[in-house]
Amino acid sequence: MATYRGIVRRALLAGIAALAFQTIPDDTAAEQKPAASGDITVTLLGTGAPEPTAARFGPATLVQAGGLNLLFDAGRGVTVRLYQLGISSGKGVDAVFLTHYHSDHVAGLPDLWMTGYMFGPFGSRTKPLRLFGPSDAASASSGVARIAKGLAEAFSDDMRIRQADEHIPAVAIGIEATGFEADRVVFDEAGVKVTAFAVNHGDLIKPSVGYRIDYGARSVTISGDTKFDENLIRYATGTDVLIHEVFAMSAQLAKLPQLKPVAAHHTSPEEAGAVFARVKPKLAAYSHIVLLGTGTDELVSRTQGAYQGPLEVGEDLMRLVIGDRVIVRRWNAALRNYSD
Ligand SMILES: [Zn+2]
Ligand SMILES: [Zn+2]
Repeated sequence: MATYRGIVRRALLAGIAALAFQTIPDDTAAEQKPAASGDITVTLLGTGAPEPTAARFGPATLVQAGGLNLLFDAGRGVTVRLYQLGISSGKGVDAVFLTHYHSDHVAGLPDLWMTGYMFGPFGSRTKPLRLFGPSDAASASSGVARIAKGLAEAFSDDMRIRQADEHIPAVAIGIEATGFEADRVVFDEAGVKVTAFAVNHGDLIKPSVGYRIDYGARSVTISGDTKFDENLIRYATGTDVLIHEVFAMSAQLAKLPQLKPVAAHHTSPEEAGAVFARVKPKLAAYSHIVLLGTGTDELVSRTQGAYQGPLEVGEDLMRLVIGDRVIVRRWNAALRNYSD
């Protein structure tokens, strides 16, 4: 069967290149690499958790600052969400940072990596994928290093075939994995500083981190998966936007013994409200949202018991622009753009 690249090459040879990428979103050029400004633009690409629902894709957050596109977690569907924005998962992503190794945060990574090295507006990576993640011992055989090695092994046939058949350069297929210990700056380029801090996602779920991204006077903090955690409050203090996970159950479901261990790894709306009240961000936003037997209205009212400040219940593709003030932009699925 003909490959996509093969079809494209023949189309180009036939002089009908214009037909080859007729599905490119209209705003590709505008979104691919935003001009550097003093703002941080945060887009919630996926606001869900393990449940495979079309309403909320897996956890992933795009942070654009200093002309860089940085991705935090790579949950299910991340490549699709990026492409909805006209951003290539190849040349449009400068680095990926994982919070921990639960599958819901990593499931979209193979797609992001492999679609990114294919030829096309969704790919065309020319450098190795830069992948950062926590590693207790900063060991070469754990965390992101193991993922990079495992992906290369699992998908070696695709790598071999596309290099031979489509002339994909070897360098574009590589993954440059950087493991780190928490509570330190792990990335500092183009004026964008990323600090990883340890969070408490449970005794057996280590290492787990959250991230704070600083650019000039602006900042955003992403909780990762965590219970109520003092270290998060310490690192998030003074941040403009705090994006926090939440796990909310109805009183009835909270009685089920099967759900208790899961709930114990996460933050309830009341606890998140207490975190927001301590951190006092310009905007608090929920992502990695789990609602069991309850809804968003109840989520908000339970949060407001402790915190009455600005709060958004995240939606996929919701955009938070951090400038002198924080502007929330909602994705309009019908328009395939933001409606202001
Ligand atoms: Zn998770
Ligand atoms: Zn987790």
